[in-house]
Amino acid sequence: MKKLIYMDNAATTPTRQEVLDDMLPYFNIQYGNPSSVYSLGSRSRTAVEKSREIIGNMINAGEREIFFTAGGTEADNWAVRGVAYANKDKGNHIITSKVEHQGIIHTCEYLEKQGFAVTYLDVDEYGIVDLEQLEESITDETILISIMFANNEIGTVQPIKEIGEIAKERNIYFHTDAVQAIGNIRIDVDELNIDMLSMAAHKFHGPKGIGALYIRRGVKIDPLIIGGGQERNRRAGTENVPGIVGMGKAIELAYENLDEKNEKLIQLRERLIKGIFDNIDHVRLNGHPTKRLPGNVNICFEFIEGESLLLSLDMEGIAGSSGSACTSGTLEPSHVLLSIGLPHEIAHGSLRLSLGDNNTAEEVDYVVEKLVGIVSRLRAMSPLYEQFKGGN
Ligand SMILES: *Cc1c(COP(=O)(O)O)cnc(C)c1O
Repeated sequence: MKKLIYMDNAATTPTRQEVLDDMLPYFNIQYGNPSSVYSLGSRSRTAVEKSREIIGNMINAGEREIFFTAGGTEADNWAVRGVAYANKDKGNHIITSKVEHQGIIHTCEYLEKQGFAVTYLDVDEYGIVDLEQLEESITDETILISIMFANNEIGTVQPIKEIGEIAKERNIYFHTDAVQAIGNIRIDVDELNIDMLSMAAHKFHGPKGIGALYIRRGVKIDPLIIGGGQERNRRAGTENVPGIVGMGKAIELAYENLDEKNEKLIQLRERLIKGIFDNIDHVRLNGHPTKRLPGNVNICFEFIEGESLLLSLDMEGIAGSSGSACTSGTLEPSHVLLSIGLPHEIAHGSLRLSLGDNNTAEEVDYVVEKLVGIVSRLRAMSPLYEQFKGGN
């Protein structure tokens, strides 16, 4: 079998061997319940607390401000609903953006049905939120601003410091979905005035099904799950000890030699973009040329369908994505691509290749070579392309 070329690191990443090694004993050797009083249990508790401290340190937060969840979506749901319900006596208005992950957008839509008012900020052609519109949208009723750190589809990094300053000045809670940013960008929650931050381990070579919400001390938020006293009474249920241990190890490894890793990723990214632009006509780069995640490439190939492109790539052993993993499988074009102003037919022809530490320059060149053939074959079958050529 041909070796898989995996370029879908924004959807998920393989768990690192060192992470898995650290997790394994917590399944069947060191398996105690962290709430139990005997040593087997307290050793599990110590492991959980150590991981909490590591994660807190990485974003300049205290360990008592890190709350484990079952992933990024859960953290997003908790931040938005928890703040909405706990602060509804103060106001009912939430500000977010049109390019958020479904974990935020669909939660906000749900809250709208319950009487909350939500402003979805526009973005410019690069996917950056409009700060003027943000300031103008704030009312006495505004209780929360939730803007993602970096976009999962087009990789655009938002002006988080400026948003944090606006939120602080107006005394409004600021949540950021940092699921794509953690492990790729250094984050200091104090410097950026972030009150809540979502993360998920499987996006930085940790296991799936474990994440965390950072909640700044003093933030008024409802508990997520009621039950035992775990996570300081805010998210009850026996802790996912192996997952938590793995998440701590994964975040440590992710921030080791970060600058070096990012330099290499950016080189690969630019090589891939240049390879495509030099060899294929009628393409367009989505997202900002520089304010983007180091490994993100998102390109529209006019006249063809993203889905057909993906299937052809898969036959060559290349894994990529069109739209986002959560919406692929539907025929709706990505809400992110529509928000940056792409017409439907072009948004349909988009391909996201998200690079990771394991990718090489040889892989990048191989993918470019295969893309050239695939795109020309698909265009040869495309009625849209025929029409275009006829018109010229
Ligand atoms: C992947 C992702 C999520 C969801 O995280 P899960 O752990 O898969 O629930 C949320 N937001 C962004 C930006 C993501 O990329």
